[in-house]
Parts: sequence; C-alpha cells; structure tokens
Amino acid sequence: MKKILLLGSTGSIGLNTLELVRAFPDKFRIVGLTVNKNIEELEKQIREFSPKFVVVTDQSKAVELKKKIGSSCEVISGEGSLTEITKRGDEYDILLSAIVGFAGLEPTIEAIKQQKRIALANKETLVVAGEIIINLCKEYGAELIPVDSEHSAIFQCLTGEDKSYINKLILTASGGPFLNKTLSELENVTVSESLNHPNWKMGSKITIDSATMMNKGLEVIEAYWLFNLPKEKIEIVVHPQSIIHSMVEFIDGSIKAQLSRPDMKLPILYALTYPQRLGFEGVITDFKKIGQMTFFEPNFDKFVSLKLAYDVIDEGGTAPCILNAANEIAVEKFLSGKIKFFQIPELVKDALDNIKTIRQITIESVYECDLLTREYLNKKFS
Ligand code: NAD
Ligand code: MG
Repeated sequence: MKKILLLGSTGSIGLNTLELVRAFPDKFRIVGLTVNKNIEELEKQIREFSPKFVVVTDQSKAVELKKKIGSSCEVISGEGSLTEITKRGDEYDILLSAIVGFAGLEPTIEAIKQQKRIALANKETLVVAGEIIINLCKEYGAELIPVDSEHSAIFQCLTGEDKSYINKLILTASGGPFLNKTLSELENVTVSESLNHPNWKMGSKITIDSATMMNKGLEVIEAYWLFNLPKEKIEIVVHPQSIIHSMVEFIDGSIKAQLSRPDMKLPILYALTYPQRLGFEGVITDFKKIGQMTFFEPNFDKFVSLKLAYDVIDEGGTAPCILNAANEIAVEKFLSGKIKFFQIPELVKDALDNIKTIRQITIESVYECDLLTREYLNKKFS
C-alpha cells in the first residue's frame, strides 16, 4: 500500500490521480490533499478518501471548510502550510506534485529532503530550478519520476538502456489549437478559442501554454534537466494526434517510442508504480480507430515561445526562471482579458531583455528573480 500526498487535488492531474486511487483501493491510499480555493470539490474528496490532513491555501476558504467538516480531518492554511505538510515524512511515500506554476517549487524541495519519491507533474519546478532539484535529489537519494506525458514516454523508452547510446530525444507536440492558423490570424484569437485544446483536457494555464507552444518550450527545459543532455539533442516534432508521446533515437538509428490514446492516467500510474506496472483497463488504444499518424516540423517563427525557451537554456542562471515568471504573468493577463494572445511571448521577451540574469543559481536567487519579474511586468498594468 503506497501512501500518497497529493498537491493540487482539484486540478486536472489531481482528479486523474484520484480516479486511479479509486481504481486501486488496495494499492494506494491518500493521506493528504491540497487545493488553492475549491473547497466544494475538496469536501467531496475528503468524504470519499478520508485524508488525515488537507491544505487550503486561501485562508478564508479554509475557515469555511472547517465549519463544514468539523474535526473529521485536519485543515491547515496560510503561508508555509504546503511545506509544513510535506515535512511530515512519516506520513507518506509518494508526493504527487500537481500544483500549477512556481508555487509547486517549495513543497517539492521539501519532499526531496524527506527522501521521497516525487511524481512530478509540476514542470515549472524543473524549469526554474532544474539544477538545484537534480542536485538535491542526488544528495538526499530522492526519486524524481516524470508525470508529464512526453517525459514519462522518454523515461519508459530509456528503461534498460545505457544513456551513452542515446542519439537524441524527440519530444512530440500536438501543436495546440492554432497549429493551422497563420501568424496574422493569431492576432485576434479569443480566450475561449485558446482554451479549446484538440486532444487534452487540462488546467487553463497549461492549455494556454499549449496554444502558444510555450508548453513545449518548458518541456524542452524539463527534458534538459531530467535526462542531462545538451539542448541540440532534444528535438521537437509536431504530431497532431498525440498518440506517440515521445521517442528516443539511439546511436544505431533505432528509435523507441511510447504510445497510447492521450490520457494522463497512464503516465501518472507509471510514476506511482515504477518499476512495476499494474493491470489497468481504463485506457484502451485502438489503432484501427486512430487511422493515421502525421508529423511536421515545428514553426519557430509563428510560435516564438519555442525559440525563447531554447535560448534561455544557453543563457543559463536564472534566465529560465525569468521566462517562467513572465509567462505565468502573461498568461494570467491574457486570461483576464488585459492583453491579446500574440502579446504573451512579447511580454516574456520584454522581461528577458530587461531583467538581469543572476548567474549563480541558488534557492534565494530563484525566489528573487521570480519576484522581480512579477513586479516588473505587473507595474505595466497598474
Ligand atoms: P489545474 O489548473 O487544473 O490545477 C491546479 C491545482 O493546483 C488545483 O488543485 C489548484 O487548487 C492548485 N493551485 C493552483 N494555484 C495554486 C497555488 N498558488 N497554491 C497552491 N495550490 C494551487 O492544473 P493542471 O492542468 O492539473 O496542471 C498541474 C501541473 O501539472 C502544471 O504544472 C502542469 O503544467 C502540469 N501538467 C499537467 C498536465 C495535464 O494534462 N493537465 C499534463 C502535464 C503536466
Ligand atoms: Mg506534456
């Protein structure tokens, strides 16, 4: 029985994880859940999964929840509460890190220090602090298993292989909802068009990232840290059907791929059970129904975010952290109607051009840089 601490339980990854826990009641147990605000959904989850403790980041929502559930479960809130529960190392075996954005960093670091398995959905953690995270995992002997479908695919392709035989990683990208739009057509796309992803149902931030293709850019950085390869060996290919989740090409020209119908339950399950697998019939892939799979070159001129992401790898230091913070702010401004779609990468570039990169990457420099970038961009809207 694996005890799971699930951060971000009301999100898309969180709900998929709970479906798996429901499907395997004798394999997994939920000990803790966390949400930002959605206490209606959390209340249902508490009644079904009986966690020992929950975190509600929003303090007034936490008070409301306490009134509803009484003493059936410990409710924690306020600054530091996510870290406080991840410190409870005796209570859990696996941290499922599925909060969106920079907020996922601190509790993930704490779980590494507790020497836990980290099932990592929160890619932003590796984007902003990849070097720190990889070194901490080595120092504390914590396991970092990717949940992101592309990285799970590569991780699965590499199982049993010697790393020196890798020629390159091939990350597949759906291309998002605007794959076939021209650059000028992108000028007037709406929020609801941008939220309409063809293959995946995900939270709003990552869905917009998929529309700008910043998501793939973040994933290149994520792969760079996870698999320790130069960026020249990480290639993107657009594959609109999202059946091949990514591939590894070896030095003899042979290529391994991992395939399935697009459903995040598979990479989540693998991160929970690795190196074992569990019998599961929840995701069936029928090639006769898929029909065809196609592949294209990504368009770096139309999706500028891709280029920005490759560039910050060379820049190093806190440059990826600036890219991430600027992107979080830009996506938030787009979702709230303050900027247009094409301005998202413009804001990111503006921040990268105007905020100084700190060479020495430490926890402190990452936090400083994240804050500076947010302040810099928010000032433009005050
Ligand atoms: P989501 O928006 O659906 O859910 C986010 C969760 O985090 C919610 O439970 C919310 O309450 C919580 N949360 C949000 N902001 C918070 C904050 N500041 N502090 C504490 N909790 C907060 O997001 P999602 O689509 O489930 O994605 C989660 C993470 O997984 C992201 O980093 C995303 O890039 C990654 N990911 C998601 C998918 C997917 O299919 N959804 C695939 C690959 C990777
Ligand atoms: Mg992905």
